[in-house]
Amino acid sequence: MLNLCWRRLMMRKREVPLFHCDLYDTEVGHKIAQALLPGLATACVDNTTGDIFRNPASVAVESRKEMIDYLTQRSETFVAKSVILEDGPDAEGSDHPYDIISDFVDDFASLKRNLFSQVSGWLLSEMREDKIDDFVQEMEMNGFWSIDRREAIVQILLENVDFKNSFHCNIKFKSAEELAEHNHQCSFRSMTCTNEGCNARFCASHLENHDSACPFKFIPCEQKCSDSIMRCEMDRHCITVCPMKLANCPFYAVGCQSAIPQCKIEEHRSDNLHSHLLCILRGIYKEASDKDLKQRAEQLEKVSSCSRLAEARNVRSLTSIIQDLDKKLGPLEVSAKD
Ligand SMILES: [Zn+2]
Ligand SMILES: [Zn+2]
Ligand SMILES: [Zn+2]
Ligand SMILES: [Zn+2]
Repeated sequence: MLNLCWRRLMMRKREVPLFHCDLYDTEVGHKIAQALLPGLATACVDNTTGDIFRNPASVAVESRKEMIDYLTQRSETFVAKSVILEDGPDAEGSDHPYDIISDFVDDFASLKRNLFSQVSGWLLSEMREDKIDDFVQEMEMNGFWSIDRREAIVQILLENVDFKNSFHCNIKFKSAEELAEHNHQCSFRSMTCTNEGCNARFCASHLENHDSACPFKFIPCEQKCSDSIMRCEMDRHCITVCPMKLANCPFYAVGCQSAIPQCKIEEHRSDNLHSHLLCILRGIYKEASDKDLKQRAEQLEKVSSCSRLAEARNVRSLTSIIQDLDKKLGPLEVSAKD
């Protein structure tokens, strides 16, 4: 302990004339801070289970203090260890601060297990899970250990274990002015999403990452219609109002199996009038040969304007136009089918 204090003192001494940027990845910090409460709850529950004189709440204050000391000490010694292991062949495990600190928290909770919890099958029981969850909720409701205070502790832990400075800034400056200038550009400075409706906060280096997944960002339609749609509404747009949504040809039931974007159906009807006519004629004159039907279709196209025929939106209306024209043309002379 003495040794540690001396080290801190020396560090402070060295830092006095320097202005050092203490910004860090607040998202990661928040995530770790959230894990502290279940960790503490686990320690308190496992420490008092089967004990008729104590309950989790009665040891919470003391356990919290022990936990903070334990985590601080582990994080400080961890730095030394990573220096030794750096690039070593035996270096293993994640170097993400969340994983590292979660391991410390788990270790602390295991240390607090009382004899009863170790021998009784307690660790695997559902009752234990429930008790831990309940105690987390109780502490949250009482504001026993606020997220702000946990985050402040996590910031120190994170600085200790984030050896590569991937999650915190540690740049030092000679003057407050230089530091202030840096703070405006530091990649760990906090930003809020500018997309309307989004409240996300992240550090500047994650801006691109967030933007590429932000549910509130307007992006061009995935089906390439001319609209821009909020990312979170894209799926719905594409299967409902998007003019490029694929639909079956209205003559699907009589044999045209094309799938066409909604907005191109009219075009499809006029481009494929001949084949649509054939589809319907085939239904009316089941005995006729393809050659007869083709001739009939051509006749129909001659006696009526193509645009009138193409205007028929569905099987029923095209059939009734054909039946009308059939009266003019007289019955189809059917030659033997080959
Ligand atoms: Zn910085
Ligand atoms: Zn956003
Ligand atoms: Zn669209
Ligand atoms: Zn069609």
